[in-house]
Amino acid sequence: MTSLQLKDRIEGKAYESHGQSFYELNEKEQFNVVGNAIMEYLVPEWIESKRKFGKKKQAYYLSAEFLMGRALSNNLVNLGIEGEVKQTLEEMGVDYNALEDAEDDAGLGNGGLGRLAACFLDSGATLDYPLSGYGILYQYGIFKQNFVNGFQVEEADPWLEHDNPWLIKNSNDAVIVEFSDNDKVEAVPYDMPIVGYGGDTINTLRLWKAEAIHKFNFQAFDEGKYIDSVKAQNEAETISRILYPNDSTNEGKKLRLKQQYFFTSASLQDLMDNFKAEGHKSFDDFSKLHSIQLNDTHPALAIPELIRLLEKEGVDFERAFDITQKSMAYTNHTLLAEALEVWDKGLFTSVLPNLYPYIEEINARLVRELKEWQVDKDEWHNFLIIQGNSIHMAFMSIYATRAVNGVAAIHTDLLKTDVLKSWHDMFPDRILNKTNGITQRRWLLQSNPQLSGMITDLLGSKEWVTSLEQLKGLEPMQDDEAVLERFIDIKREKKQELSEYIQFHEEVDIDPDSIFDIQIKRLHEYKRQLMMAFYIADLYNRIKADPDEEWTKRTFIFGAKAAPGYYIAKAIIKYINELAGKVNTDPDVNGIIKVVFVENYGVSYAERLFPAADVSEQISLAGKEASGTGNMKFMLNGAVTVGTMDGANVEIVEEAGKENNYIFGMEVDEVVAKRGNYDPIAAMKRTEGLEQVVESLVDGTFNDNNTGMFQDLYNSLTAEDQYFILEDFESYRQAQDQIASDFKDQKAFYRKGFINMANAGKFSSDRTLEEYATEIWHVSKQQ
Ligand SMILES: *Cc1c(COP(=O)(O)O)cnc(C)c1O
Repeated sequence: MTSLQLKDRIEGKAYESHGQSFYELNEKEQFNVVGNAIMEYLVPEWIESKRKFGKKKQAYYLSAEFLMGRALSNNLVNLGIEGEVKQTLEEMGVDYNALEDAEDDAGLGNGGLGRLAACFLDSGATLDYPLSGYGILYQYGIFKQNFVNGFQVEEADPWLEHDNPWLIKNSNDAVIVEFSDNDKVEAVPYDMPIVGYGGDTINTLRLWKAEAIHKFNFQAFDEGKYIDSVKAQNEAETISRILYPNDSTNEGKKLRLKQQYFFTSASLQDLMDNFKAEGHKSFDDFSKLHSIQLNDTHPALAIPELIRLLEKEGVDFERAFDITQKSMAYTNHTLLAEALEVWDKGLFTSVLPNLYPYIEEINARLVRELKEWQVDKDEWHNFLIIQGNSIHMAFMSIYATRAVNGVAAIHTDLLKTDVLKSWHDMFPDRILNKTNGITQRRWLLQSNPQLSGMITDLLGSKEWVTSLEQLKGLEPMQDDEAVLERFIDIKREKKQELSEYIQFHEEVDIDPDSIFDIQIKRLHEYKRQLMMAFYIADLYNRIKADPDEEWTKRTFIFGAKAAPGYYIAKAIIKYINELAGKVNTDPDVNGIIKVVFVENYGVSYAERLFPAADVSEQISLAGKEASGTGNMKFMLNGAVTVGTMDGANVEIVEEAGKENNYIFGMEVDEVVAKRGNYDPIAAMKRTEGLEQVVESLVDGTFNDNNTGMFQDLYNSLTAEDQYFILEDFESYRQAQDQIASDFKDQKAFYRKGFINMANAGKFSSDRTLEEYATEIWHVSKQQ
């Protein structure tokens, strides 16, 4: 696309869509017009991609969440037209950064699980695999987080309020989803292009929006019942109205169940309609042409639904079960009991009376097999899908799919030896490991152009952009003074950029020469943000007691949303904000340490935070974090990890060396041994300084505005301390103090970060996707 073509296109689009000159438009409108011009440019290649995959086997990623973030820069970089477009816009007098900021994040996910889906789509298209995403077009994405007096206050995220240039409505492909005989809605697909790096393959993310079948009741309107006249449309649209803001907990609500059935049924009908339109003779071919990945159990209703759809076509149950099993695979994302989806039978049958019999039939088939295998009846509770009034989605997903995968080596091992041991003993080949990954296009190339440029210079090529193992070639340069100096300068620059951003958005002054120690992830007790806060509180006390010591300057940064109904998580946010207020305003310490809790952490904020980190906080209680992917983004950007032997941390230190990271705390077997004979108060009393920190929750040091929140935090710690914060504190403090001490020798410290970056190759989602494609989906690339 030449510069002139682009300029003409943009100016033309502005007249066409806004009836105005481009130069008269506000930033949101200008963004939209530029987006439309880019869409027009990429559509021919998009059509060509659909054609080239034509009749081959394809993979479908079904997910209730796709945490996409912004698309403009990503699309430009992947299309390879970023330079030209920026230059043209500059010539037109447009501030590209402002234009970029005008795009609303597509926040259609909560955290890691949704972001993984987004990274997979990027890798799938980049590697030229036929991979489509299927999900829900939520009208409101993850809520916006505001802090009011230090408390989290949620605000709706109407991300579609301003037209979205990346979504194309495809009314022709609309289908009807039937919850029950008199409860049906229309599912209308909106397609988003997924541009692979290099632009050769453009795949599709298809998001379904719910609409009424009869959108307007004219009779009611005629009778003056104006609200009634649009009631059906309102009720239908409720289904795709909001993303449930939960992470790692099961909501168990009627609307949530409807959402799950809504998008899985629509997606499968879409596949069936295309399959039939292509004129296949036998439904046995369905599994030869489709690999359907269930991202957690949120889309697990695809199992009974596909059986139902096949039976409607005259296929008998056994054959339908077989086709379904051969077509599907399931990813398990958690070991937390509270996150496993279990539906109440009464609720389920009230919402989906026509689907329930298929689950009964699947369960009956399982019972026949348990008898056949002579499984002891005492063991059946480890298998049965229907138990009393409960329907276990994970068990159905293991039983009726071809492959089940965990998301990091330690997680998969725990599935095999503990949580799903009975299943693993029965089907020793079914449970696989696919360690998660992240796309280096977004998390390095795009968000850290300075470091990307250095890597390309040093390696002499940009191959790493699609082949991240190339980073290993940097490792021999760890002792090159000039290289390290450049690496440190770039980190300093990213810290400076973040400091300015934080100054503007959070109104806190931070020092780019201090250690940037960052914990960004959903707020959850198992992730132990509170332990990091206690370290800061203890450090504050120590500095106050000994102000003349040569303390290392440090900035502690948090970013996290708490589920709106998660009381303790919200108490932790309030506590950290109070702690930040105290630290930042105390002249005895605020020249040494600062604390910032950034508001509204999301993908776009993340893109500024990861590149500026010196220290990555990955301090979950061992055995609780399935993988983590934030840990990988930090590593890729050259931070060291302070972390437990949990999730992908285990593999991170396997790649980069324990000596280049700060591993502390109990390991899984120690946690297991400790449970049942744990005395949190004894742990607190034996750890110097800890009692003062814990007591400060309730002795008037901090103000919770008389909510009683801090007392509740105190009680939960002293009574139980479920996540062993008080037990692991001492070892965490040692690791943290070691970091402060190591930082005094900057070269030695940053050398560790550099080695981490050089060994991040394994954690590209390209590697993960390649494994899914070859070992689970059996799909092949298209040249
Ligand atoms: C990567 C990412 C996550 C996942 O972080 P974890 O530390 O693995 O929990 C969550 N939210 C956003 C916005 C991310 O980019």
